[in-house]
Amino acid sequence: MRIRMLVVAAAALIGGCTTTPEHQIVADAADALGGRNRILEVKTFTIEGEGTNGNLGQDMTMDASSQQFKISGYKRSVDVVNLRARTEQTRTPNFAFFQGPQPQKQILGVDGDVGYNVAPNGTATRTSNAVAKDRRADIYHHPLKIVGAALDPAAVLANARTTGSERAVEITTANGLKFTLAIDTATKLPTRVVSMTDNTNLGDVAIETSFADYQDIGGVKMPARLAVKTDKYPTAEIRVTSQRTNADVGDLAAPAAASSAPPITGPAPAVVTVEEVAKGIWFLAGQSHHSVLVEFADHLTLIEAPQNDTRTLAVIAKAKEVRPGKPLTEVVNSHHHFDHSGGIRAAVSEGLAVVTHKANAAYYQDAVGRAHTIVPDALARAPKPIRIVQVDEELELKDSAMTMNLYHIAGSPHADTLLMAHFPRERVLVEADVFSPGAAVQPYAANLRENVARRSLKVDRIVPLHGMIAPFSELLKAQ
Ligand SMILES: [Zn+2]
Repeated sequence: MRIRMLVVAAAALIGGCTTTPEHQIVADAADALGGRNRILEVKTFTIEGEGTNGNLGQDMTMDASSQQFKISGYKRSVDVVNLRARTEQTRTPNFAFFQGPQPQKQILGVDGDVGYNVAPNGTATRTSNAVAKDRRADIYHHPLKIVGAALDPAAVLANARTTGSERAVEITTANGLKFTLAIDTATKLPTRVVSMTDNTNLGDVAIETSFADYQDIGGVKMPARLAVKTDKYPTAEIRVTSQRTNADVGDLAAPAAASSAPPITGPAPAVVTVEEVAKGIWFLAGQSHHSVLVEFADHLTLIEAPQNDTRTLAVIAKAKEVRPGKPLTEVVNSHHHFDHSGGIRAAVSEGLAVVTHKANAAYYQDAVGRAHTIVPDALARAPKPIRIVQVDEELELKDSAMTMNLYHIAGSPHADTLLMAHFPRERVLVEADVFSPGAAVQPYAANLRENVARRSLKVDRIVPLHGMIAPFSELLKAQ
């Protein structure tokens, strides 16, 4: 009897040595999904369905979520062994989209380190390395891949814990990628995968994919509902209509045009051109996103800190070069959209106050305090507080040298936070996005005309933050 007790105790000890709480979570998840062997037999899977995509950083306000793309014809093919994935979908905006209302087909892929997009005409282009990295991580945002990777003896598991109805574990995969896996304490099925990435505007952000409605697919369980958030913002939801494992996924290798293109390691160098619009007003253009420099009696004001540190720091340097004798003290922000506010942190790092619509104040206050440790920017290297000047319906900035009036663009289908700048003496109007001379569609032009008329503004020229300077008659003609 005593000998038998000892044998049982020894067996329990041996078992105890190999099963940490972290390994137990992964083993439980693997069992719930159909077992270790079945998971490791999955080399490819396909998911077909429909759903929605959000409009992160481009909605009516920062926290709005009414603007969505309806997703149809969704098909995602994943090669879990070779880290290749391709998503085909058609997206249709439910809002006044700057590219027009028509359905738009997208092919978005990744093959190892190479991200790529294929345009409807078949032309493939390489994405930035940052996008490729996010798409590679996204392959692990599926129960079969993350649990399979966690079962690899070379994976490092840490920090098992229970929060509410979830058990969670940190996973560093054999190739060095980091994820959090959460499973349901009752069913043991994966509920979420989370990984961290850099977002120019939001800094260190969690990308979280949650799983629900599991179904049996050839001996393994796969979720029929997947929902994605970036930080707190919903970015995608897919309802699966059909899915399979180990089906023929075709050739998921990156197209040659993408794999042979040079890697894109960061933003292109900034090119800033200078064009005098009128006395004391300069158009700082050169690439896709423009700014305007305004000279007052004792200081300079910039309109727009767009895109990122690269663009905005180059624009600020150019402004100081154009008028070296006066301090640049503030930047006027046209609206909160990420491409027009991606340089706000850079502007704050240069000591500029931010003049913006009042609806943006809380967001910018938050944005300057966020962690940017994954890709440190200028403000992360030298933190400073933000000074915000809030604009409601209008604000006159005036001294002996210059008068500039800022007006809220009311009722624009583009954003609720838009400001335009009017120079009454020069009869110049500066605006972003609501009229871009030369653009194929102008879904916001009628509203801009209404706003100009309602305020009886005298305008000869429009200085747009996209496109070339145009006579006001161009706006009147825009459909
Ligand atoms: Zn915009």
